[in-house]
Amino acid sequence: MNRFTFQNPTKILFGKGRIADLGDQIPADAKVMILYGGGSAERTGVLGQVRDALAGRTVVEFGGIEPNPRFATALKAVDLVAEKGITFLLAVGGGSVIDATKFVAAAAKFDGDAWDILKSHGSVVTQAMPFGSVLTLPATASEMNSGSVITHAEKGAKLPFMSPYTYPVFSVLDPEVTYTLPKRQIANGVADAFVHVIEQYLTYPTGARVQDGFAETLLRTLIELGPEALEKPEDYDIRANLMWTATLALNGLIGAGVPQDWASHMIGHEITALNDTDHARTLAVVLPSLLNDQRGPKREKLLQYGKNVWNIDEGTDDERIDKTIAATRGFFEDLGIKTRLRDYNVDAAGINHIVTALEEHGMTALGEHRAITPNDARRILEAAL
Ligand code: NAP
Ligand code: FE
Repeated sequence: MNRFTFQNPTKILFGKGRIADLGDQIPADAKVMILYGGGSAERTGVLGQVRDALAGRTVVEFGGIEPNPRFATALKAVDLVAEKGITFLLAVGGGSVIDATKFVAAAAKFDGDAWDILKSHGSVVTQAMPFGSVLTLPATASEMNSGSVITHAEKGAKLPFMSPYTYPVFSVLDPEVTYTLPKRQIANGVADAFVHVIEQYLTYPTGARVQDGFAETLLRTLIELGPEALEKPEDYDIRANLMWTATLALNGLIGAGVPQDWASHMIGHEITALNDTDHARTLAVVLPSLLNDQRGPKREKLLQYGKNVWNIDEGTDDERIDKTIAATRGFFEDLGIKTRLRDYNVDAAGINHIVTALEEHGMTALGEHRAITPNDARRILEAAL
């Protein structure tokens, strides 16, 4: 197990009706800005619940944050923060709204060009505004981590940053607010959380037994929950389990002390930057191809994953690995997520664009041992066509 520092400062308020408790979490004299997305929070009544919880407070609202949130939109919110003297941010939405709020929190306290926050992947951030979140979509774990991914449309870039200063102070997780999610977003959320676990678990060398055990439990739970959540949108127990599983998938716990891959995410981000494909769908395309390509170095862990998660333990090593990768692809397909690049209108020219973008964005040494080069990414993408 590698050396690590583990600290997660985010307080979680979980369960039915917890939005009503959020007023207690925000200083009484705060000037609050509520950030939200394209209107679902208004339609579903979540924003109404938030307004009720903050009745009598000084509140400003900022709507219109896009899925795959845009740099330019976040900068408009930064201007409004300064103009209105805002002291506390509250994200109401999915990963996109929470990620944008993290960027606003950091940029509002940053002297200089806000683009540097993304270019440096967050290392230039030395302070941020305090913020909380009301999560409406179980997927990213952005509600309990310090990461954020922002798209700069004009530059054709989708870049991540993280900072110890951009953890939410608190997050409210009420599973009932997920009942209104379209099937496509539930499927995306299950797939994204699944790949978050894989990025931290399916790496080498192996040997972190507790992290592996937690990771395998999260994976098996997602395999069970995915179809159930699609079939029964208003089953509280299913949604509660899904919400907490997605949070635990990327709140730092299973990633402590283990090598972490993230190549599928970095390659996937470039697909989204190219044509706005849903984040989770890019992962469902890249991951099976990457696992097949990296079956040499990842052999031991692929066999462990096959046995402990998919009950695959017969045949030669290569046969077991083939079955394991096929099971992973089948899981995404059964959720209704296509797993080939051509399903998202990406062709050979698109692959050239993606590989060039990886080089431009410094994503030239990916994977848990920084061994995946742009040439390797090209091979992985060509096999995913
Ligand atoms: P999202 O982009 O936040 O939301 C997707 C869609 O779902 C939006 O159209 C949104 O509508 C709608 N929606 C949200 N909650 C709803 C509800 N309760 N009922 C009905 N519709 C609802 O999706 P996401 O998957 O959570 O976030 C994806 C982003 O997170 C990507 O940019 C990805 O790169 C990033 N990400 C971040 C991390 C991290 O650690 N920070 C990890 C993985 C991925 P409205 O716009 O109308 O609200
Ligand atoms: Fe993700």
